[in-house]
Amino acid sequence: MIITPHIVTGMVIGKELGNPFLVSVLALSSHFVLDIIPHWQENRYPWTLTKKTYIRIFLDIVVSIFIISMVKSKIGLNPNIILGIFFSILPDLSDLLLLKKKPIKNKLFNKIYEWHKDIQNETPKMYGVVTQLVVVVLSLIIIF
Ligand SMILES: [Zn+2]
Repeated sequence: MIITPHIVTGMVIGKELGNPFLVSVLALSSHFVLDIIPHWQENRYPWTLTKKTYIRIFLDIVVSIFIISMVKSKIGLNPNIILGIFFSILPDLSDLLLLKKKPIKNKLFNKIYEWHKDIQNETPKMYGVVTQLVVVVLSLIIIF
């Protein structure tokens, strides 16, 4: 999924659970579960970066920052919510390493990367937007 549904799910986990270890493990697991659900993306593997991709990522980050600041002003950001946010997007953050265009020489990293790539259920169809909207709206209802 794009960044926003991952982040709001991580915030729910961080808000609802008290144990930081559990928050980290569940937020990380939630990332992979959400990637398995059919979700819209303007491009699909092998993810050639286009102008549309940069615009989508920029807007996704702006929406995420807006939601995080809304949560911060309404209920506050406790350390567990911050942990939830971090671990919910960690697998996608690791993709940033690939922007260097040099192959990563770490077997474990490459195995996880390949697996993360293979579980993606990306679709150009509109229902892929709906699935992500449902995740965001349900998460916001739980948070507030
Ligand atoms: Zn992902």
